[in-house]
Amino acid sequence: MTPEMIEVDYLIVGAGATGMAFADIVLTESDKTVLLVDMHQKPGGHWNDAYPFVTLHQPSAYYGVSSKELSKGIVDTIGLNTGLQDLASGPEIMAYFDEVMRYQFLPTGRVTYLPMCKYEGDGKISALTSDKTYNVKVREKTVDATWLKTTVPSTHTPNFEVTDGVRMMPLNDLPRVMEQPSRYVIVGGGKTAIDAVIWLLENHVDPDQIHWVRPRDAWLLRRETTQPAEEFFEATMGAQAAQMEAIAAAESIDDLFTRLENVKMFTRIDPDVTPTMFHGATISDPELAELRRVKNVIRKGRIQRIEPDQIVFDEGTLPNDAETLFVDCSACAVGNAEEAEIFHGDTIRLQTVRTVQPVFSAAFIAHIELTRDTEDEKNRICQVVPLPNHATDWIRMQSAFMMNQYTWSQEKDLRQWLLDNRLDGYSQLVASIKEDETEKLAIMKRMRENAVPSVMKLQQLMAEIA
Ligand SMILES: Cc1cc2nc3c(=O)[nH]c(=O)nc-3n(C[C@H](O)[C@H](O)[C@H](O)COP(=O)(O)OP(=O)(O)OC[C@H]3O[C@@H](n4cnc5c(N)ncnc54)[C@H](O)[C@@H]3O)c2cc1C
Repeated sequence: MTPEMIEVDYLIVGAGATGMAFADIVLTESDKTVLLVDMHQKPGGHWNDAYPFVTLHQPSAYYGVSSKELSKGIVDTIGLNTGLQDLASGPEIMAYFDEVMRYQFLPTGRVTYLPMCKYEGDGKISALTSDKTYNVKVREKTVDATWLKTTVPSTHTPNFEVTDGVRMMPLNDLPRVMEQPSRYVIVGGGKTAIDAVIWLLENHVDPDQIHWVRPRDAWLLRRETTQPAEEFFEATMGAQAAQMEAIAAAESIDDLFTRLENVKMFTRIDPDVTPTMFHGATISDPELAELRRVKNVIRKGRIQRIEPDQIVFDEGTLPNDAETLFVDCSACAVGNAEEAEIFHGDTIRLQTVRTVQPVFSAAFIAHIELTRDTEDEKNRICQVVPLPNHATDWIRMQSAFMMNQYTWSQEKDLRQWLLDNRLDGYSQLVASIKEDETEKLAIMKRMRENAVPSVMKLQQLMAEIA
């Protein structure tokens, strides 16, 4: 079959949250054309494969595309997020991106959307459902919105062996459990494992029936400190100020994490275990209290193999029985931690330019692509803020984030753009301060006073990381 020819300004590979956020800025801030290609049948990327009880772990208020609100603008009054801004569920996120595509993007006449198609490289696209192929001529850039290689449990292959006779499932299938197991073994120490444990506890499972394989414990962010609405100013911006003071005063890396926990920015499930991981997972205090009800925590390193009568770990074995149900939560959301220049010839490789904020970052990068001339200038403004894995990665990430914030604060048009963009909740929060709000002004003063000392301290601590 002869390939169909398409000519477009921006070819965006991946119609996940980041590809959509990039396209949205191109469409609202320029008259350029866009082609979005994705192997999924609907926009939204990994949310197509999400487990049925997933929600965002950060407020909806700063998720999605810049031009359309995702939040309901409410504070939850029931459940474990009570008192905090709403968190969209997986189905809500899917419906949102579908609406953006059908009612905003496609009616512009400037968007070509090719779902169920694979980008093969070199401008070549092939349909997954037939022999249909496309050749794309790109006038401006190809945008790689797959760089981070997000993985989720349902599409992930565990990196341990599971022999015949073992009952194991991804957490997507948990709501389908009809036959009660002897116990549930949750495998993984990250956000999906947290969600699985909470779901089980909310669905009548006794905490003693849950065994949790946590090779590493994580530092977690308190969701109470991430709320962008004005009524949360003190909790959110006060925490930012306290964080800066904690960094500036830290005497060592260990002391830094102790201080971050003391100022209630960080938390951990088990106060007796020093976390070695940080993935940016965000959790509310009531969720934390629930998780602490699970006492059967297995710390014997990673699982190597599960057999019907034993579990083989890096550091020993434990007995097993065929009635145990293993729930695989070992997928790491970010499959590719490799950092590379974002603007690279005729390609843009979408990565984070603000701490664990991939969608804000994609929108910001699109704005810089449209408003700055040279590749050097674009990369200077968009330094990669690395996605964290080990606890000490937080230091490098925070340092890169603060350097970017400083760079952006020096450019008037960027200050205004940040203020106007809904994905940047915090600039609006700061701009909302009135002259007579002395307590808020005092918080901002603490931030200003500690900005330079904290950046210098982060640099110093980075040099100590082995
Ligand atoms: C459970 C969970 C909760 C999360 N909660 C939050 C949150 O609260 N706030 C937040 O900011 N972030 C959150 N995240 C992070 C989340 O990963 C990002 O926000 C974002 O959804 C990632 O989008 P993406 O576009 O980078 O990747 P993806 O969603 O993985 O999209 C990439 C797309 O590229 C397509 N693709 C890949 N290769 C090709 C190819 N060759 N040809 C065509 N298409 C291709 C894939 O099919 C996929 O649809 C969460 C992540 C998870 C897993």
